[in-house]
Amino acid sequence: MGANASQLEKEIGSDQFPVNEHYFGLVNFGNTCYCNSVLQALYFCRPFREKVLQYKLQQKNQKKETLLTCLADLFYNIATQKKKVGTIAPKKFITRLRKENELFDNYMQQDAHEFLNYLLNTVADLLQEKQGNRSKSTVGGVDIHPKAASTWVHDIFQGTLTNETRCLNCETVSSKDEDFLDLSVDVEQNTSITHCLRGFSNTETLCAEHKYYCEVCCSKQEAQKRMRVKKLPQILALHLKRFKYMEQLNRYTKLSYRVVFPLELRLFNTSDDAYNPYRLYDLVAVVIHCGSGPNRGHYISIVKSHGFWLLFDDDIVDKIDASAIEDFYGLPSDLQKNSESGYILFYQSWE
Ligand SMILES: [Zn+2]
Repeated sequence: MGANASQLEKEIGSDQFPVNEHYFGLVNFGNTCYCNSVLQALYFCRPFREKVLQYKLQQKNQKKETLLTCLADLFYNIATQKKKVGTIAPKKFITRLRKENELFDNYMQQDAHEFLNYLLNTVADLLQEKQGNRSKSTVGGVDIHPKAASTWVHDIFQGTLTNETRCLNCETVSSKDEDFLDLSVDVEQNTSITHCLRGFSNTETLCAEHKYYCEVCCSKQEAQKRMRVKKLPQILALHLKRFKYMEQLNRYTKLSYRVVFPLELRLFNTSDDAYNPYRLYDLVAVVIHCGSGPNRGHYISIVKSHGFWLLFDDDIVDKIDASAIEDFYGLPSDLQKNSESGYILFYQSWE
């Protein structure tokens, strides 16, 4: 690592360098790598980048500063640079983030997944506020949308889970839907993300004191429960639950388990009525945690752009071989906790 801008341009080659693409590292403002790594991953989630840039062009006269206007300014700033490679300071964005959420208003290492979650929900809320205002003005203040309207954040990241419960007495299946912007999955040693997703959808039997109240039987019955994906999102964000609270230690520890994630992924835990259940996903970005615990260590990200892979480590950008991705699967031995391992995976479907 440590290649400078001109080196990266050389490595990619001037004839190979994608037109209208920019690779800019982000300056670290004191443990803000949790933020930088997620911003880079999102910048290379093309549908998201395009919507953010569109927003920037549509909101030219917006005076009120929000986290979304700061994000749009940052993306626009990267996308309109004269140079192809360089460094940018996301100062306005970080200042806004610290102002808006006291959780991030310090110089401590934060959880990249928590930040991703906060950012996507805040952007969606800001877009809904705008839509809400518009619909209210057209129908005379009467709210005709009891459920908040869908936004482009939802169009890109939102999927639906269905929680199916089958009563073992009368065999009636009842289901409850739940939307998600990302999925958090438990991890196990020497497995794959597909295996971890299978665990996520494992059938669970509700018995003894956990019996389920069946509306048909009108009594508590043994039941089987399972979770399946009913609507597959355009971009599937998978969060690997690598930080586990250890009661004996009274703190969180990192699970550096080796969890293989393929470049192409298909979900198998889809429900029977899922639309496009065999959607093929391509890995487009990974946020990687380096270190041994949630409050120490470092975050970097790798992204796929125009067929090749790049590594962003704050202000440093490097081209990497696709074969180097396996270095970020985790460690096959439980003895070591200190690893550089995939923490949030972004899979995009082009279908
Ligand atoms: Zn029943």
